[in-house]
Amino acid sequence: MDTLQNAINGKLTSSKSGKAQPVYNPATGEPVTAVPLSSASELSEAVAAAKNAAEAWGRTPPLKRARHMFRFKELLEQNSSKIAEAISREHGKMLNDAQGEVNRGLEVVEFVCGIPHLLKGEFSRNAGPEIDTHSDRHPLGVCAGITPFNFPAMVPMWMFPVAVACGNTFILKPSERDPSAAMILFDLFQQAGFPDGVLNVIHGGKEVVDAILEHPDIKAVSFVGSTPIAEYVYATGTQDGKRVQALGGAKNHMVVMPDADIDKAVDALMGSAYGAAGERCMAISVAVPVGEETGNRLVEALTPRVRTLKIGPYTDPDAEMGPLVTRQQMEKVLGYIDLGIQEGAELLVDGRGFKLQGYENGYFIGGTLFDRVTASMKIYKEEIFGPVLSVVRAKNYAEAVDLINAHEYGNGTAIFTRDGDAAREFADRIEIGMVGVNVPIPVPVAYHSFGGWKRSLFGDHGVYGTEGVHFYTRLKTITSRWPTGIKSGASFQFPSLN
Ligand code: NAD
Repeated sequence: MDTLQNAINGKLTSSKSGKAQPVYNPATGEPVTAVPLSSASELSEAVAAAKNAAEAWGRTPPLKRARHMFRFKELLEQNSSKIAEAISREHGKMLNDAQGEVNRGLEVVEFVCGIPHLLKGEFSRNAGPEIDTHSDRHPLGVCAGITPFNFPAMVPMWMFPVAVACGNTFILKPSERDPSAAMILFDLFQQAGFPDGVLNVIHGGKEVVDAILEHPDIKAVSFVGSTPIAEYVYATGTQDGKRVQALGGAKNHMVVMPDADIDKAVDALMGSAYGAAGERCMAISVAVPVGEETGNRLVEALTPRVRTLKIGPYTDPDAEMGPLVTRQQMEKVLGYIDLGIQEGAELLVDGRGFKLQGYENGYFIGGTLFDRVTASMKIYKEEIFGPVLSVVRAKNYAEAVDLINAHEYGNGTAIFTRDGDAAREFADRIEIGMVGVNVPIPVPVAYHSFGGWKRSLFGDHGVYGTEGVHFYTRLKTITSRWPTGIKSGASFQFPSLN
């Protein structure tokens, strides 16, 4: 079995750490490749290459940088099914879902094709007598990205295209659970003609992450993953003086109002709770019907749909949901189902014991549905990250809003209703970063920005869109006087127009 290589200074190089671990096809449980667990010194080599490339790349006119990005975009389009296949083989998600992920990453590349416009500064003539002021945004130097398993192509593309278009160089540390898609991205990036060292890929785990956080030549770190690691990355990186954005976990609620179209709400819940086996940071994991009758109608319509979910490997075009990413993740989710029963939730559909003929060693769990989950239960408080939907019934609208606002996570939420007043009020009052109105997975388009609130994001900037451009640049403001008609004599007064 081959072991993936790192990409340093434009070249693929085998890790010398002597440590590697297998990467599995979660549908079969068979290893498909191996990923090296690189050492801190290999990370240092990549940083040296990125630092070496940073000066010339930072001075390259933004329009030229954009032209490389246009070529990268075309290559991504031509190779999108190859990337999708690599994602599905190691993650387990359906091919059309993986294709959707590639498309959303591609949109970020399209967005940064407009980088000259995005980096345009501001100018004020006659800010004072014969004094002009202009502000513009400068690259930071070497930036790094640490990414999760659940979007092995899209999340890296939330980061490096924006950083690179802004004039930075980049080190990507992909998830060790599904690292192959990142290598295709690197290959296409090199084919697009970017100079060597602009993008580097170092595989590994905690040792490489710690080396990134400690390296003095890395100026900014973007992280996406679980909340405990996000908090650690933010605290450690900022302590070392780096700029850090660290996006963490989620528990996303969908409020179903009494006037909602129940069939449409159920369709939305099926896709958003069970798509990608619930392994999406914007998955809906809690349905909150308002009123007992809405709860009864929702559960009645939902239960048969969950029971008849079509589950299979990504190679089955009819399957709607695949396996969990690893055996460990499958066992964790099974543990949560056991816990929910112990905690007294009502198990309406039990996904434990699901077996698929011919795929007995795959990491499959059937769709699972709990009713009468309460806010004090662990299965409500914690992120399960599997095909498990909890129904928490709210007596009224105010109780639904208070429930969501009290949760420690604040990534996404949605309301299903026909009442414009309720929808507007909800969007206003809810303490969540991304809100959907009759939209179950409100992931913002590339020219807006993505980011949660509360313990779903540590740092001051969201990713991509204007927030991403601001994260990867720093502002400089220049005040100049021409012609040099400076009166002689020193002035000790603070400069003002009066
Ligand atoms: P994870 O936190 O286990 O891993 C993320 C990255 O951190 C990986 O590259 C991994 O190698 C590294 N890492 C893991 N343990 C580490 C440690 N102890 N020290 C240093 N680095 C470590 O996350 P995951 O399981 O790959 O991804 C799923 C999580 O990501 C979920 O919690 C999900 O909600 C979250 N997520 C959030 C968003 C968002 O936008 N908020 C998007 C996608 C995923």
